[in-house]
Amino acid sequence: MPQPDRNAPYLLGHDIGGTKLAVVIADWNGNILHKVRRPTEAGRGPEAVVASLVDMSREVMARASLATADVAGVGVSCGGPLDTETGVVYAPPNLPGWDEVPLKAWLENALSLPAFVENDANAGALAEWSFGAGRDFRHMVYMTMSTGIGGGIILDGRLYRGPNDTAGEVGHMTIVRDGPACGCGKRGCLESLCSGPSIARRAREKARGTPGSLMVDLSGGGLAAITAETVMAAARKDDPCAREIVDETARYMATGLGNVVNVLNPEIIVIGTILVKAGDLLLEPIRNYLRNETWSRVYDTVQVVPAGLGDAVGDLAAIAVIRQAAQAEGSM
Ligand SMILES: [Zn+2]
Repeated sequence: MPQPDRNAPYLLGHDIGGTKLAVVIADWNGNILHKVRRPTEAGRGPEAVVASLVDMSREVMARASLATADVAGVGVSCGGPLDTETGVVYAPPNLPGWDEVPLKAWLENALSLPAFVENDANAGALAEWSFGAGRDFRHMVYMTMSTGIGGGIILDGRLYRGPNDTAGEVGHMTIVRDGPACGCGKRGCLESLCSGPSIARRAREKARGTPGSLMVDLSGGGLAAITAETVMAAARKDDPCAREIVDETARYMATGLGNVVNVLNPEIIVIGTILVKAGDLLLEPIRNYLRNETWSRVYDTVQVVPAGLGDAVGDLAAIAVIRQAAQAEGSM
């Protein structure tokens, strides 16, 4: 398997999202020189999307006046499931029409550079670990908390993928037996309780039975328009109904984090998006409840913190993927 060329000073990063593609050229420290974005338009089919990525790569390299020899390789962050060894992508939910796409091979052929493909949650974990809130830690758990709850695990200074590249699915731990249906087909997963849409669903149910909740006024469209952000905004204004939803969310999160902490004994848990926006409103009760879910010895070791990279995580995720590839080879 070709390896990133450590003597080349620059890296290409491809962030393949359901709606947007981003291609960046950066140095090994994550300093981004140039970036290009285009809509994904996944309906065009994988060949057309990859052709766009190749174009965009040539564009950022041209803007930075770089030749192929200046570039160590391509890191790719893409929705899973996928196989990191072969670089084949298997029908990600956010890329309809993609099934068994040999992404790595296509990119390597077109760009004459080694390519490394990672699922977006693992790539996000690598980014927070390389450049964000998880820097300087050897044992880190990363959780996204947005439309879904994804995760990635760094153990002993390495990404832990498992034999099928599916380790780290913290969002699908069962928290409530026979609880709400989850998109994965199970019930009562953390994601079915604490993702943005799940928080909103619980809030709507509660507001329906509690007339006069501020959440309905703040949503800008009545009960049906309540989102996780509405819940946080109303809780900040001390709406009792919203406060209850925040408290319940913190309890569910603490139960999930407690399981993770007791199994893995991480030094740091980094949580993105909703937790970053909610800040201490959600973080404080999570930390308090977590104390009851863990042994004091492990509780005293672990920090729970908001993600540090914000919107830059997508660009840096792809760059972190190729850094990890070089590191795994022992050349860093
Ligand atoms: Zn699930």
